[in-house]
Amino acid sequence: MNVNNSLTRWFPSRIVAVLSCASAFAFVTSLPARTDEVLRVGVATVDITPKKPVTLSGYGGRKGLSQGVHDPLSARAVAFGHAGTRLVLVSTDLIGFYGGTAEAVRKMILAKCQLSPSQLFLCGIHTHSAPTLALEGSEAHANNIEYTEWLTQRLVGVVCDAMLHMTPVRIGFGSGSSPVGVNRREVFMDKAGKPQIKLGRNPNVLTDREVQVLKIAHADKDELAAILFDYATHSTSLGAKNYIVSGDVHGLAEQFVEKHLGGGVVAPAFAGASGDIDPWCRVLPEFKTVNSWIPEPVLLGTLLGEEVVNVANGIQKLDADGPIRTAMKTVDLPRKPIEATQTKTARILSPFNLTVGRVGDVAFVGLGGEVFNEIGKAIKTASPFPHTIIITHCNGAGSYVPTRRSYDEGGYEVKTSPYLPGADEQLAQEAVRLLQELK
Ligand SMILES: [Zn+2]
Repeated sequence: MNVNNSLTRWFPSRIVAVLSCASAFAFVTSLPARTDEVLRVGVATVDITPKKPVTLSGYGGRKGLSQGVHDPLSARAVAFGHAGTRLVLVSTDLIGFYGGTAEAVRKMILAKCQLSPSQLFLCGIHTHSAPTLALEGSEAHANNIEYTEWLTQRLVGVVCDAMLHMTPVRIGFGSGSSPVGVNRREVFMDKAGKPQIKLGRNPNVLTDREVQVLKIAHADKDELAAILFDYATHSTSLGAKNYIVSGDVHGLAEQFVEKHLGGGVVAPAFAGASGDIDPWCRVLPEFKTVNSWIPEPVLLGTLLGEEVVNVANGIQKLDADGPIRTAMKTVDLPRKPIEATQTKTARILSPFNLTVGRVGDVAFVGLGGEVFNEIGKAIKTASPFPHTIIITHCNGAGSYVPTRRSYDEGGYEVKTSPYLPGADEQLAQEAVRLLQELK
């Protein structure tokens, strides 16, 4: 297929700001802390599309290097400031920060941009068509190591740039619904007539279809600064046979929203609690076009993006409220014995980071792993805040946290999770307890 034609066809006016990382972070370190009481936001975006062929992350069986780019990858930063306090959300069109990269990349950003650990939410949209991140290791391809080092500098640049350009804003929250994601734990009968679970599609099980939108508008002019959105699905409409770089559902939705609204608005996406949710069309081999019809990943991204725009347009009430508060904790979830953990990655003890923050009465819960949607819903329901945005693949890569009930059913996530039943309840309780401390 002609990748470039495909890109310009669907996203002809994509705007990507390329930052000068070095100058951005050199400047921020000399800034005094603000003590103003006005809510301010700075927004920045940077291109993070790999320039060389790289291995793509998310499917164990996929070998070989990427063969082109369908749509560019970006990192989008939104920095909130109020009364000298900061909260920075970073959305990256990546699978997440696996292989120990979360700690290393965060450390660099925190130091260069003068943030405390809980003030940074470094997140991936969980596309499986983006580079594998690696800073070292004999198994990593040299292009991927080079990419990750370059990425780290870009991320430092985009965070510092957002922090440098904070201006007074008003923000408002809205909520919609989208059927783009579906429960992926399909039930089938084995030879003995016993129900088993495989990765597929199970529309009989309810998921969390909420589309959460945060509208950020400049206070002094009638212009949008950012439309932040959150939706619970894996970004895996493309599968292991695909070798073309793409942001998949979330990335294509971001690009739709930015193109549709225009005016330089930035639309960072975040993945909600989606450990058990895939897009309705999943693991396709390519951007297939039959009779010139829209390829499924683009269709799904467009459907999600349309709902984001609809919700954003409906948000009328915009306030400019602080305070900003943040907290972070590494949660010691109950673990399976190491010999019962079936995958090599799950055997590596990776900490499960929990980061919470508030901007006025909007709360953010960053979960450093992939959790089942019911856990996200439980946190939203018990949260002491009117609006609670659940962000997974945030500040760590701590594997699957299934619900207690799913352990009896079995399936891929349960087998590969390093955690025991009850981890879900403990995680939700800790998240709610930390949220209460922010009140
Ligand atoms: Zn996953």
